[in-house]
Amino acid sequence: MICKGAVLSSTLEMAIIGSGPAGCYLAQSIQRMLPEANLTIIDRLPVPFGLIRYGVAADHQHTKAITRQFDRLFVAPNVRFAGNIEVGTDVSVAELRAAFDTVVFATGLYADNSIHLPGEELAGVYGSGTITRLLNSHPAERSELPTLGEDVVIVGGGNVAIDLLRFLVKTGADYQGSDIAEHALASYLESPAARVTLLNRSQITNAKSDPQMLAELAKLEAGNYQIFGLSETIALEEQAGTLDRQATARLAALRALQSREAAPGASVRLRFGATPVRLVGDQRVSAIEFEQDGKLEQIEASSVLIATGFSAGNDPLATYVATPSQTGRIEMGLYRTGWAKRGPRGAIPENRACAKAVAEEIVADLAESTGPIGRGGFESLPEDVRTNSISYEQWHLLDAHERAQAGPDRVRRKILDTAEMLRIARRETQ
Ligand SMILES: Cc1cc2nc3c(=O)[nH]c(=O)nc-3n(C[C@H](O)[C@H](O)[C@H](O)COP(=O)(O)OP(=O)(O)OC[C@H]3O[C@@H](n4cnc5c(N)ncnc54)[C@H](O)[C@@H]3O)c2cc1C
Repeated sequence: MICKGAVLSSTLEMAIIGSGPAGCYLAQSIQRMLPEANLTIIDRLPVPFGLIRYGVAADHQHTKAITRQFDRLFVAPNVRFAGNIEVGTDVSVAELRAAFDTVVFATGLYADNSIHLPGEELAGVYGSGTITRLLNSHPAERSELPTLGEDVVIVGGGNVAIDLLRFLVKTGADYQGSDIAEHALASYLESPAARVTLLNRSQITNAKSDPQMLAELAKLEAGNYQIFGLSETIALEEQAGTLDRQATARLAALRALQSREAAPGASVRLRFGATPVRLVGDQRVSAIEFEQDGKLEQIEASSVLIATGFSAGNDPLATYVATPSQTGRIEMGLYRTGWAKRGPRGAIPENRACAKAVAEEIVADLAESTGPIGRGGFESLPEDVRTNSISYEQWHLLDAHERAQAGPDRVRRKILDTAEMLRIARRETQ
């Protein structure tokens, strides 16, 4: 039907799998480059926005507010949200490829990375993804928040590790205006951690967390901080005079933390250049051994939270997304973007540049393509898949319901049960 180059003026049917930042930014870029294209953004959850809803900390509503920008995307008549469709289960990649001219994975990376250390399988050891989903009322994490005990150790030093630390330190009064999972917060505050240790393999100056995340800790009323090796590092670095802006800001934030007046709440020890070696315990973790400055040390641990990144794990789509790639194209007509392309690195805005580059690749490939376009799109998917799916209008009903149900000082009460979400979105009575 279409000859080389002519495709840009034809109706292209594109499926984007995943409605997190990567999928939404890709749709925005394609909308600008190919305004006529029909875009179907599929998600396995009945709700959009991926980790913005289920990863970004509940007390960071300013970050979650980016969804308002994506709201504008879905009002376009040629952009469709199709939630509650799990690719690989409800519909296969082959079926999608038959129905759409272009298919893009924007599926993120869901599984917690293993640290491959002895004792990792002990009770009391949890992945950061599991805990942050629990705090965000993700429907796949319906159990209670585990009892973390008095001596909590966090392994990792990126922003997710700092999100966990902030949760462990904050008091109930700090959650005004949030959408924290109430049951999880209440159970934590019944017996909060007395001591928290963060073991970060990186040195202070090249740690991965953003300085603002550390500066935020200094503004909280609770928490007493001890930062191992801080004065020595500051003296050495000031003498060498080689610090970049980021490292200077990080040192300033850490200095502010360390010099705080005595406050209520947990004592927090931050250790940089500390490499965990093994987790110790008989069935349940009781300590963690780590190496620092050539010496082995052990500290008590009633629980250990591993925040060392994410992977595809045993995701049935892993063959497409497990290894990071420079380019978006998997093969002609099949692409990936966001964490599914680059690996588990980068904050929300980085997915925008990534999506733009992938959109340019797609458009360039289309311009070179000599094959026909104009497949059946969403309407040609199996009927049960279409009728079970949740539209953007239906999500708005659920969104309004969650906001209306918010308790005092909260912006929303998320529904945890998928069946209940579906009933509300479809206006079904029990
Ligand atoms: C705990 C945590 C906190 C974070 N906090 C911040 C922060 O405060 N600020 C910031 O800028 N960045 C933050 N980030 C980073 C940010 O969330 C990521 O950069 C971003 O979400 C990656 O976008 P993505 O679209 O690739 O993946 P995701 O956001 O994970 O979106 C993937 C989507 O694909 C869907 N999906 C997966 N598999 C399938 C399937 N088989 N079928 C259909 N749909 C599927 C998922 O349901 C999901 O909606 C955080 C990350 C984590 C893990």
